[in-house]
Amino acid sequence: MAVYKIVEIGDEVLREKAKPVKEITPNIIKLLDNMADTMYEANGVGLAAPQIGVSKRVIVIDVGEGLVELINPEIVEASGNVVDTEGCLSVPGMIGEVARADKLVVKGINRQGKAVTYQAKGWLARAFQHEIDHLEGVVFVDRAANLRKAE
Ligand SMILES: [Zn+2]
Repeated sequence: MAVYKIVEIGDEVLREKAKPVKEITPNIIKLLDNMADTMYEANGVGLAAPQIGVSKRVIVIDVGEGLVELINPEIVEASGNVVDTEGCLSVPGMIGEVARADKLVVKGINRQGKAVTYQAKGWLARAFQHEIDHLEGVVFVDRAANLRKAE
């Protein structure tokens, strides 16, 4: 078990387009394990690899429905539109309103290298969009209205 330091906005790695994972190596497994540890330690609901300084397409999410780990995630369908409040572990203390699709189909690969598909709605759909944005160098503040300090 290991906890990484979370990089904060202003760090270049958060603005890079992350690279696809070509092969599931022991290092990728370790990355997944440590990313989950880091997310839980920080009381977050999601974490993307660039947030710990690793520019690879790897995300972890837990919105209270269990741990989701996804490598090379891709949104293949999106529908609906909902505005809700978001924050980000890389932008401590700030929140804002972000419009997101309400329902998604997300594809990717799991730690066994198998193709997996998630049907997501609500908070899970929001978390997927937020974390996949990180892989494109997009931070929620780019999309947020009424950006403000959390109380
Ligand atoms: Zn974030």
